[in-house]
Amino acid sequence: MYKKRPYGIDHRIVLPDGTERIVHEQAEVIYDEAGRSIRMIGTVQDITESKRLEEELDKMEAQLRHAQKIEAIGQLAGGVAHDFNNLMTVIQGNTDLALMKIGEEEPVHRNLKEIGRVTAKAAALTRQLLTFSRRQPVSKEILNINKAVLEMSRMLQRLIGENISLSTELSPDLWNTEADPGQLEQLLMNLVVNARDAMPNGGKLLIKTENARIDETYRQIYGEGRPGRFVQISVEDTGTGMDAETRAHIFDPFFTTKGIGKGTGLGLSVVYGIVKAHDGWINVYSEPGNGTNFRIYLPAASGGIEEKGDKPKASEIRSGNERILLVEDEEDVRELALLMLERQGYKVFVASTFDEAVSVFKEEGGRLDLMFSDIMLTDRSGLELAEELRRHRPDLKVLLTSGYSGEHFQLLEGHKKDFGFLEKPYSQTDLLHAIREILDR
Ligand code: ADP
Ligand code: MG
Repeated sequence: MYKKRPYGIDHRIVLPDGTERIVHEQAEVIYDEAGRSIRMIGTVQDITESKRLEEELDKMEAQLRHAQKIEAIGQLAGGVAHDFNNLMTVIQGNTDLALMKIGEEEPVHRNLKEIGRVTAKAAALTRQLLTFSRRQPVSKEILNINKAVLEMSRMLQRLIGENISLSTELSPDLWNTEADPGQLEQLLMNLVVNARDAMPNGGKLLIKTENARIDETYRQIYGEGRPGRFVQISVEDTGTGMDAETRAHIFDPFFTTKGIGKGTGLGLSVVYGIVKAHDGWINVYSEPGNGTNFRIYLPAASGGIEEKGDKPKASEIRSGNERILLVEDEEDVRELALLMLERQGYKVFVASTFDEAVSVFKEEGGRLDLMFSDIMLTDRSGLELAEELRRHRPDLKVLLTSGYSGEHFQLLEGHKKDFGFLEKPYSQTDLLHAIREILDR
């Protein structure tokens, strides 16, 4: 009589040439009556490859779960931001209107100004959320980052306070880049605010720009980037720095080491999203006690810079008597837009749905110069409405608006030349300017 004992073990073995392999041993030991092991029968199999695949799959699965989580948060944030935009359009617009009626000598003038100022801040926060949920379209233009940094530096200095000294090292022959100026501003602001928070007792902040030629070696060393011409922006502080654990999570949405009510954990995930939307990448160098350096690479552009004039003030916009069809399902927003347009002399017809708009159009025998419509109507979309009305009046001017711009941006893309687009929340000036511009095209 003898006994068998089966077993399975993985071994890590080193071959004579130094390479490591993982092998799986599946065997059984055979014992004699006295309990001595007399024999082993089994197989040894090289499982290095399948182990590697398994690990890779696990990693991919974790990444996928992470991506899905971010996507869900993004949708949630985007949905809230959409409603917020409508509310803020109403607050901003009514404030603008009230300010026009009240002279500067009145005490409430100051309060109204303050409401206007804070609403602009709230709008900026909504933009953060929209960028984060990728609902904000990127509208790129060719620009020089040096100029953007210089234009912002006064604002940034105010933001960081007197304890922190801000200096810049801007490469004089910096290549142009194709970027969305608003998003670029947001990116710099988020990095600068973080640097400020990391230096509660003061310190130094340096913003640097440089041309960077990236080659294949760079990719091999850093595992990121691609060969080509890039513009490098670096934001360096002498603050607390970060340990590896923090560094690993900084780009996660809602990751913050700041207390409740202090950090939102959105800053860097927005930065990350913006950099990705510009086909760039971002590196961070940081150690506890040794400050932090964020480096961003954006592709250099070959084209030149188009000069653009400043936006005119409301009072400088020419009034008109054109006939406008205003379509908006949100009552407050509709009332507000109506007020703004009528003040400027336009003859306005209102509708709240697709069907209503079509019947108003018919009642007026198509004698309308412009349709100004929300994209997301309760029954159908503003785009469909525009197409429908254009079938009867091919020369009808169209201005569309939405707070959800990203979602419809692709749709709009095809019509870009003949449809105007106005982002919500819009101020009186934004609206009147957009309307006038389209009418005069
Ligand atoms: P928040 O600033 O609201 O916390 P962020 O996404 O902007 O969210 O940043 C996430 C975290 O990354 C911060 O809480 C902080 O721990 C860390 N961090 C970001 N920038 C810096 C910096 N310049 N120095 C030290 N830590 C930083
Ligand atoms: Mg932050």
